[in-house]
Amino acid sequence: MPKKQKPKEISELGEFGLIEHLTKKIKLKNPSTIKGIGDDAAVVKHSGQTIITTDMLVENVHFNLMYTPLKHLGYKSAVVNFSDCYAMNARPEQLTVSMAISNKYCVEDLEDLYEGILLACKIYGVDLVGGDTTTSPGGLVLSLTVLGDLGKNQPVYRSGAKDNDLICVSGDLGAAYIGLQLLEREKEVFKVNPHSQPDFTGLDHLLEKQLKPEARKDVIEFFAQTGIVPTSMIDVSDGLSSEVLHICKNSGVGCSIYEEKIPVADVTARMAREMNLDPTTCALNGGEDYELLFTLPQKDFDKINDIDGISIIGHINPKETGCMLVARDGTLVPLVAQGWNHFGS
Ligand code: ADP
Ligand code: MG
Repeated sequence: MPKKQKPKEISELGEFGLIEHLTKKIKLKNPSTIKGIGDDAAVVKHSGQTIITTDMLVENVHFNLMYTPLKHLGYKSAVVNFSDCYAMNARPEQLTVSMAISNKYCVEDLEDLYEGILLACKIYGVDLVGGDTTTSPGGLVLSLTVLGDLGKNQPVYRSGAKDNDLICVSGDLGAAYIGLQLLEREKEVFKVNPHSQPDFTGLDHLLEKQLKPEARKDVIEFFAQTGIVPTSMIDVSDGLSSEVLHICKNSGVGCSIYEEKIPVADVTARMAREMNLDPTTCALNGGEDYELLFTLPQKDFDKINDIDGISIIGHINPKETGCMLVARDGTLVPLVAQGWNHFGS
């Protein structure tokens, strides 16, 4: 039998050796990437306006390695940035990855992390063009930045929603939140009984939405094919309520969202109830769905109404009417942002 290999310490490679090791297989694919890793800076040339978006992830604040495999973490970190890029109606083309690593990590851990990042780059057609590498006194900190090309598109802001516009959302909501609750629950079980094996049969959708979310590239491509230009758009990272309120505040409008129209998958609703949670509350206040929320003029109703995987959930009103949820029984409830807020209580 072959011997188990000892984990390789990062100090064996050193900073430059590590970067070389993690990035040597990268092949640049986008014509807009003129120069990638290996110089003082990367060089890009986009066909239209460039959008830039960045995200920082801190161990034990944004992720927990007890149930997040590093490959998934890498994949998700890249995808959430791509999602922000799509939410501007742009194509992500370049990515930089900066990381601070503590000495509890070995080379194999970072190989896993980069495997995830590079898989996301491959699937979404993005070039990894640079980054920075340093040490951390504890835990892992990741900072990813994406450059996107708007091409012929104008950027779609949060501020363009108009009275009477339709409010639409892609996919289904609340699944990532319930997926997280599931993982948290199993983590507690595992603490008591390390030999327990969780049974996640039939719950793939919930775990995938939490551990391996996808950005809605397809929705942006659909807009381009059908000539749809949303009046406003945002990606759903902090829960539907919070995102709807961002659009309304930035656009100076109010809205009505119909509870019965909010897309929640059957498995999400079933598991939510099992955990004594209200499915609608999970959709409104959960987070990390990475779906696209957007507004369209009424004239686009026919273009969107029949599209599988897009739901019309409400409409924009004048500001004075406020931002309301119309509950199933017809009562009006003001929408409040109770999603993930780092500086909230
Ligand atoms: P500098 O000293 O100019 O900051 P570095 O030695 O940090 O240069 O980086 C050398 C090259 O490696 C640069 O092209 C940089 O973008 C890239 N790089 C550094 N760290 C990473 C990383 N974690 N992932 C991808 N590329 C990286
Ligand atoms: Mg550097």
